[in-house]
Amino acid sequence: MSEEVFKKVVSHCKEYGFVFPSSEIYDGLGAVYDYGQNGVELKNNLRTYWWKSMVQMNENIVGLDAAIFMHPKVWKASGHIDGFSDPMIDNKDSKKRYRADQLLEDKIARYEKDGKTNKAEELQKSLDQALLDNDLAHLKNLIELHEIVCPMSGTRNWTDVRQFNLMFSTEMGAMAEDSDKIYLRPETAQGIFVNFLNVQKSGRMKIPFGIAQTGKAFRNEIIARQFIMRMREFEQMEMQFFIRPGTQKQWYEHWKETRIKWHHKLGFGTEKYRFHDHVKLAHYADAAVDIEFDYPFGFKEMEGIHSRTDFDLKNHQEFSGKKIQYFDSEVDESTGKPFGNYIPYVVETSIGLDRLFLATLCASFIEEEVGEGDLPAAPRLERQAGKKEMRTVLKLPAILAPVKVAIFPLTKKDGLPEVAEKIINELKFEYNCFYEEKDAIGKRYRRQDAIGTPYCITVDHDTLVDQTVTIRYRDTMKQERIPISKIKEILAEEINWKKFLG
Ligand code: ATP
Repeated sequence: MSEEVFKKVVSHCKEYGFVFPSSEIYDGLGAVYDYGQNGVELKNNLRTYWWKSMVQMNENIVGLDAAIFMHPKVWKASGHIDGFSDPMIDNKDSKKRYRADQLLEDKIARYEKDGKTNKAEELQKSLDQALLDNDLAHLKNLIELHEIVCPMSGTRNWTDVRQFNLMFSTEMGAMAEDSDKIYLRPETAQGIFVNFLNVQKSGRMKIPFGIAQTGKAFRNEIIARQFIMRMREFEQMEMQFFIRPGTQKQWYEHWKETRIKWHHKLGFGTEKYRFHDHVKLAHYADAAVDIEFDYPFGFKEMEGIHSRTDFDLKNHQEFSGKKIQYFDSEVDESTGKPFGNYIPYVVETSIGLDRLFLATLCASFIEEEVGEGDLPAAPRLERQAGKKEMRTVLKLPAILAPVKVAIFPLTKKDGLPEVAEKIINELKFEYNCFYEEKDAIGKRYRRQDAIGTPYCITVDHDTLVDQTVTIRYRDTMKQERIPISKIKEILAEEINWKKFLG
């Protein structure tokens, strides 16, 4: 899929109510987006898929919903105040700001595109080393050495590379003198760490166990690009798995495998995913890998799996002065005694819901020619023979589709709308339904294809006689005459969490 298709996906999102720029009537706000009527449904369904797989399907994983605001010391303890920054560089002519590492990564991609593999590899190595050493001068050197120009001004008039903290801050308290600087969380994980003991004790959890959470996170990204790929306000779905020290390698491998399988189940093709090991480890990690997705603009991180050691709990213990330990009563065979008290180690899985949403849309977006099989239900609405027609369809897994079933009365009269209403009133408790009576059936099908509705049901005059309707399937465009009483059964076949999760 090319950049051009990506542009189509972006405009499709807007046209069909999936994603809008934030505050659009004021020309938008950089890297902030709103989810529209179909977007919110798809996003909810993706979140549900994650939540069910993590919490509902695992007896030893429980949920949490921690507040976005946290005590300022949390971010001191977590290392974010001192260490959560990106290297930035400004172009003095265009006054534009860039991430130094991304300028270099773009250059590597360019070398690769031009077949200069050696140069690409060499630069990648130098970049990894510079990031590993936190060597800002080296980054600047590389930008000069590889003659990188500002995409806006076309010049090489660069400032030095500096660190830029990505956390947003605000003040808490009604009066200025009471106010205290607090931060908008840049990750949801810390809400889990500070609640470790609360959950462990109140839930009588035994190690190994996990705590899962979904929620907003905020990062003042230096540059925002690629639509909802890099946002300043986004949603994370994170799970911290607390384990006995020394078992982290085994659990890291376990979660790598579990998570990639979860992605594969979406059915977009296993070739769309790959692992990418981190060279530069974050300040908290002893091993880390990304699951990358093949977006139209190349393979990019969608999820991170991190072995976080006891870094976070240990620091919170130190900064809060409260003991954060677990008593493990299980007997250690090597000593014959219980494992006793320790600070648990953590393996975390962290996925961005917006990046998952984007991957889902890109993988499902298809433009294809409509075959002869997609004739409208009533003969008088048939297309002229030989006339070709294209359709845009989102081939989403049915369980994720924003609307599960659309019900169309063929005409607005003769009691057909009433029958359609009756069908909706039967289905709406379980399925998101959509009613429409305007335009030719073919047109109505197209609109549902564009939002990924797996089933359309048409009520016509025969329905009044024999209680049957036409069901039309999104992917095959096949149409079938079925009794009204069979609709539920057909829907339940595909829209079925057991089938999807099992
Ligand atoms: P990147 O290298 O792309 O900035 P990261 O390594 O900083 O990402 P993590 O801190 O590991 O990301 O965060 C976990 C997940 O949160 C990422 O895999 C991604 O899906 C999501 N995420 C992080 N930053 C953003 C953002 N600015 N916009 C949307 N999603 C994000």
